[in-house]
Amino acid sequence: MPPPVFRFAPSPNGLLHLGHAYSALLNFDLARQNGGRFLLRIEDIDGARSRPDYEAAIYQDLAWLGIVWETPVRRQSEHFDLYRDAVERLAGHGLVYPAFESRAEIVRMIEQSPHMQVSAKPWPRDPDGSPLYPGSVTTLPPQEREARMRAGEPFVLRLDSGTACRQAGALMWEEQGSGPGGETKRVAARPEAWGDVVLARKETPTSYHLSVVLDDALQGVTHVVRGQDLFWATSVHRLLQQLLGLPAPVYRHHGLLRGEDGRKLSKSARAASLQSLREQGLSPQNIREMVGLP
Ligand code: GLU
Repeated sequence: MPPPVFRFAPSPNGLLHLGHAYSALLNFDLARQNGGRFLLRIEDIDGARSRPDYEAAIYQDLAWLGIVWETPVRRQSEHFDLYRDAVERLAGHGLVYPAFESRAEIVRMIEQSPHMQVSAKPWPRDPDGSPLYPGSVTTLPPQEREARMRAGEPFVLRLDSGTACRQAGALMWEEQGSGPGGETKRVAARPEAWGDVVLARKETPTSYHLSVVLDDALQGVTHVVRGQDLFWATSVHRLLQQLLGLPAPVYRHHGLLRGEDGRKLSKSARAASLQSLREQGLSPQNIREMVGLP
């Protein structure tokens, strides 16, 4: 049996905090306990938010924690061609279409939709709480889509989720952790809950969902261990794996560390960074204790 492969895949758009330390150490410990490999991947597809100094801080923080990773480190921004090819493959199966609306226009489309005029029910939202995209593949004639792209308008490429889900059929994943609702073991994927997700953008030929799925497969990742906030994203990942003929890793979603206010730690909420904890004199052992790892 080849060794299991674990990975930690941060985005260099802020300093790592205790939640990242927990996820990275858990993956590293699991790899060691199981005679496996541990990979680090830099998820830097967002050119506007990714910064070299944050990437350097990731290496510094992880090394300080005693984590050792294989090199070279895969940086997603260096593999746009691969992601572009995958979108083209999906497009070749008639599963991708361009959409041109801004966020504000999407909100307006929803407000003006016949559903909102006649139904008492609120507009459906995805598991992250964003309203589902209301357009459908049929709303714009193909010639008009082509013309607008040629004219240089901003666009995103969306997955035609209805057709994609029909093509893929029912999907499950093996869950070794648990979901926010206590889901365990074999979880039924619900990609339809996300609607027509964005696969790529005019300026960025990929998205989180697409690149994570392609890279996990390409790097031979067998165990995806990550926070529970990504639990339902796994539905989309299973769908893309099925459509692209990629193997499905085993998943383990771990609980999220919460701040004193009970909210999940996040870069934007200015959770104390590992860098600042280190500067305050804390040791890697203190960090392990704080995140509840032996
Ligand atoms: N890059 C993602 C993040 O920073 C994690 C991706 C994953 O583990 O699937 O939250």
